[in-house]
Amino acid sequence: MREVRLQGREYQTGAAIEITAVDGMIRQIAALKEANESLPLIAPGLVDLQVNGFGGVDFNSFPFDEQDVEQVVQAMWQQGVTTFMPTVITNADHEIEQMVTTLAKACQRSPRVEQSIAGIHLEGPFLSLQDGPRGAHQRGYIKAPDWALFQRWQDAAQGRIRLLTLSPEWPEADEFIRRCVAEKVVVSIGHTSASAEQIASAVQAGARMSTHLGNGAHLTLPRHPNYIWEQLAQDDLWCAMIADGEHLPLSVLKVFIRAKGEHAMLVSDVTSLAGMPPGRYHSHIGGEVLLSAEGRLSMADNPALLAGSAQCLLHGVNTLIKHGIATHVQSLEMASLRPASSMNLPTQQGLIVGAPLDAILLQQAADQTLVLRATYKNGVEVWRGE
Ligand SMILES: [Zn+2]
Repeated sequence: MREVRLQGREYQTGAAIEITAVDGMIRQIAALKEANESLPLIAPGLVDLQVNGFGGVDFNSFPFDEQDVEQVVQAMWQQGVTTFMPTVITNADHEIEQMVTTLAKACQRSPRVEQSIAGIHLEGPFLSLQDGPRGAHQRGYIKAPDWALFQRWQDAAQGRIRLLTLSPEWPEADEFIRRCVAEKVVVSIGHTSASAEQIASAVQAGARMSTHLGNGAHLTLPRHPNYIWEQLAQDDLWCAMIADGEHLPLSVLKVFIRAKGEHAMLVSDVTSLAGMPPGRYHSHIGGEVLLSAEGRLSMADNPALLAGSAQCLLHGVNTLIKHGIATHVQSLEMASLRPASSMNLPTQQGLIVGAPLDAILLQQAADQTLVLRATYKNGVEVWRGE
């Protein structure tokens, strides 16, 4: 029996508590008699549904192996992310197969990788062919939803593809979505130029999420209707947003969050260059790119254009707090409980008796932003700062 006790201030109320976990599960939460302002905040571990890689490991370009996956798991813990979904994007059929195979093997090989990876997010290749919505996904590999092909990948992934981003503009989409739902794969709408009718019909078929809404879109859209309004108006869609302060203007983040209420949530969409020293790099999709000291990733020949995200989820949480878009409680929940709920994960109700102890300890700075102090995964301290 492995017991751990964790003291801190509950992130919602500030009340001093002690959490006792046995074998990774929360057994008891007790109030401490004395209030202690110096205790860190205790919050649920962060959950990131879109992680393309980190620290030079890229889930979308070989070589990467099982050990590299484990390295990313550890890097995520250092960022307060206790659960994430490695994201495989549009590529040649056999490449996708190879990548999901490697990710599945990494899960099989190590229980701590298995526990930290909630499944694979396959983003593509059933996306829009149009420039703009297509984003950086390679046109030559984009295709209509194909169930036999998806099954091949799902077999290679040992059933671990749990989230699929597609565009419902394909006539095959609704039937495909229904099959995904029957197999408990969550379908998210993204990289789309779908009509209002196609979006409504995809939701009817069971689509439940929008992938990084507002990015992977045309530069100019009809005022209405358009696919952004239509997704905002669908109450059944969870709305994932990249809140690094670069991908969406703060005003847009604010409006999306207000429109979506409890269904608003954050993803990082972080790429392999995150966690690397600033400098000039070659990226397999973006070509020559620049990583600034502030963590902004842009095209080397046109720094106005973003080349992906290099900031982790806590940075997005802090962006919302710093700019007064959401409270620290709401911001943290947008990066933990809500993504966990959208994927029906065991941590969706946060730190309650009977749930796994996936938690982070945070210090609140003078400007209310949060600094990570320690990370617990399944009741084990997996990272602690100085
Ligand atoms: Zn994308």
